[in-house]
Amino acid sequence: MSGIRSTGFLHLGNYFGAIRNYVRMQEEYTCYFMVADLHSLTTHPDTKELKPNVHRVLAENIACGLDPEKVALYCQSHVYETAELYLLLNMLAYKGELEKTTTFKDKVRQHPENVNAGLLTYPVLQAADILLHRASLVPVGKDQEQHLEMSRNFANRFNHRYREVFPEPFAFNFGEALIKVPSLDGTGKMSKSENQYATIFLSDSDDLIRKKIMKAKTDAGPSAPNMPMPDYIENIFLLMKLVSGADTIQKFEEDYNKAAIRYGDMKKQLAEDMIRFVAPIREKAESIRQDQAYLKRIMEMGAEKARISAAATMEKVREAIGLKYY
Ligand code: ADP
Repeated sequence: MSGIRSTGFLHLGNYFGAIRNYVRMQEEYTCYFMVADLHSLTTHPDTKELKPNVHRVLAENIACGLDPEKVALYCQSHVYETAELYLLLNMLAYKGELEKTTTFKDKVRQHPENVNAGLLTYPVLQAADILLHRASLVPVGKDQEQHLEMSRNFANRFNHRYREVFPEPFAFNFGEALIKVPSLDGTGKMSKSENQYATIFLSDSDDLIRKKIMKAKTDAGPSAPNMPMPDYIENIFLLMKLVSGADTIQKFEEDYNKAAIRYGDMKKQLAEDMIRFVAPIREKAESIRQDQAYLKRIMEMGAEKARISAAATMEKVREAIGLKYY
């Protein structure tokens, strides 16, 4: 089980941190993937863009290879049991631990004018999303590790206080380390909401991709062979490893170690490889986005599958708590 917020355009971080794993998982597991539209309300009270954003996230997920026939692909707000479980889990979540969450502290800093209770209890809603399907594997990027630990804590507390209902959920990446796709300016990660010019979106035109990559931070190059690599150069290599062939990476690594690297050439190569990766996804997503009838059908089909699983879990939850009076 996993989700992506409907707060804007999907980017390379979403793809390599999350969606790529969704697509692999759909072949082997029973999967629930949702558009986290309720989560987006914690930071985006203006809902004018909500509908196009939800459509975009759905279309981009499908364009990346997610098959709505194989998985349950749904909108969080369409499965009302989410809200019920969220309420019940809130009784097990403590103000102190929620206030200590890194993402909460970041968001308070970014939006001091809108520190709402939904923002504080964001990890509880996320736990509800996951536990609603009694999911144990959660494909997410590295930035979500702390939230996942909180989901495990809530699951354990519930099991301990009432009765064993939930398996412990863990972040999942096919046995490999979780990924953080760095931003192009050498500070932090690619993200929907921060520095748009340092993030490559799956909807970016070829030209825009070229411009963004050519602007990525570099320097005059290593002054001697085999120098340690600065972070921002390591980031460019990391991006190259995501989209370029092994020969290309080897060539530039060798050039670096010989202190003969030309960053302009490296970025040009990276831009062309990036375009080859992004352009087909962008074009496919665009055509899916135009087909509103198809998107409606997908959402209905996904919600139907998700509700069956959610209803079964909530029966167990209500029974375990003792919310059964006849
Ligand atoms: P955003 O941070 O862009 O708003 P979300 O919070 O909706 O994205 O996260 C959706 C998924 O994408 C999560 O699994 C998250 O871990 C992953 N993700 C987001 N940004 C990155 C990144 N830069 N690198 C790796 N994974 C990421």
